[in-house]
Amino acid sequence: LFASVELVPGDPILGLTEAYNADSRPDKVNLGVGIYYDEQGRIPLLDCVREVEQKLAADAKPRGYLPIDGLAAYNLATQKLLFGTHSPLLEAGRVATSQTVGGSGALRIGADFLKRALPNAKIAISNPSWENHRVVFGTAGFEVIDYRYYDNDSHGLDFAGMLADLGALEPGTVVLLHACCHNPTGADLSLEQWQQVVALVKDRGLLPFVDIAYQGFDVGTEADATAIRLFGESGIPAFVVASSYSKSFSLYGERVGALSIVAADREEAKRVQSQIKRTIRSNYSSPSTHGGALVAGVLGSDELRARWEQELGGMRERIHALRAGLVSKLAELGAPEFGFIQQQAGMFSYSGLSKAQVDRLRDEFGIYAVGTGRICVAALSQQSLPKVAAAVYAVSRG
Ligand code: PMP
Repeated sequence: LFASVELVPGDPILGLTEAYNADSRPDKVNLGVGIYYDEQGRIPLLDCVREVEQKLAADAKPRGYLPIDGLAAYNLATQKLLFGTHSPLLEAGRVATSQTVGGSGALRIGADFLKRALPNAKIAISNPSWENHRVVFGTAGFEVIDYRYYDNDSHGLDFAGMLADLGALEPGTVVLLHACCHNPTGADLSLEQWQQVVALVKDRGLLPFVDIAYQGFDVGTEADATAIRLFGESGIPAFVVASSYSKSFSLYGERVGALSIVAADREEAKRVQSQIKRTIRSNYSSPSTHGGALVAGVLGSDELRARWEQELGGMRERIHALRAGLVSKLAELGAPEFGFIQQQAGMFSYSGLSKAQVDRLRDEFGIYAVGTGRICVAALSQQSLPKVAAAVYAVSRG
């Protein structure tokens, strides 16, 4: 029956982890992942999460289904975190939010909804972008086009190129924007650049689709939501936000995300939400209970929320310190040209290393990175830093 089914090549990043696991060198380092590890090389279990989990276990409840759009307390807390506690959009009832299966689920449900609502719209994504953006929107039936974003030579934004490409899109095109901590490059927009993009998107009649998977990993939960806040204040009639707590709560496998659609008014938001619920219903019916309860439990308590902000701040500061450490070690070794790594934000950095240099890192030093040169700074440690810096220096000098 399936004789003609073709074998699909495995995910290159997951393949990298398999190769890393099979490597017997004791000081091997995996910088290919998209996960934050602590100094001991573990995925952190946040204290605030542990506390809610213990309370839930002590008062164990039957596991009924959640509503199709998830836990109400989770959705409300998510809206406040994304749009601001006193957001006029929320007060006007213009935002329809659904708990989703991770940020990936939010992207896919959002894509399916938009394909139905705007069947002829294309989507533009940054070049480069998280590869799944292309896959998810392509699978949902979208024609995916690129806009210029990253300049390999300056290791920063190609902002003029980005503005030119966005300005040439057909009105009604969906534009996928990374709110902060751009994956894979680490290159983000400044406040002034966001203001220009928001104005352009509005003038041109584009539909922004903001992906925020690293809120709190650059500056803080408020500052990292700048793009959402600016779109909120801009007066545009609609925009979409896909959000994820995978990183900010270190709850990767709990699959905690949300899709929020801003509509023109309360009544439009209700109609949109009814369509979103239909889309969810036809995919997986309703989200799972546990992860949502953990996040809602933390965000619903002033004390635990404050602890979360502190723990999140700890992860953020550690990433900043690792960036600074890598840059200063490389400079000490005689490679000051890597200073740009400190300007980049979030877990990832486009290191500028070529595929051949990445291969050498793996073969000669047991250091694994993505072929594009993307390294996960959040997978470094103070212990592995000297080795990684020395190896990067060695391959960069031929
Ligand atoms: N968007 C971006 C840019 C991401 O990097 C990720 C996670 N790698 C996601 C969305 C999806 O996150 P989740 O794991 O919650 O599905």
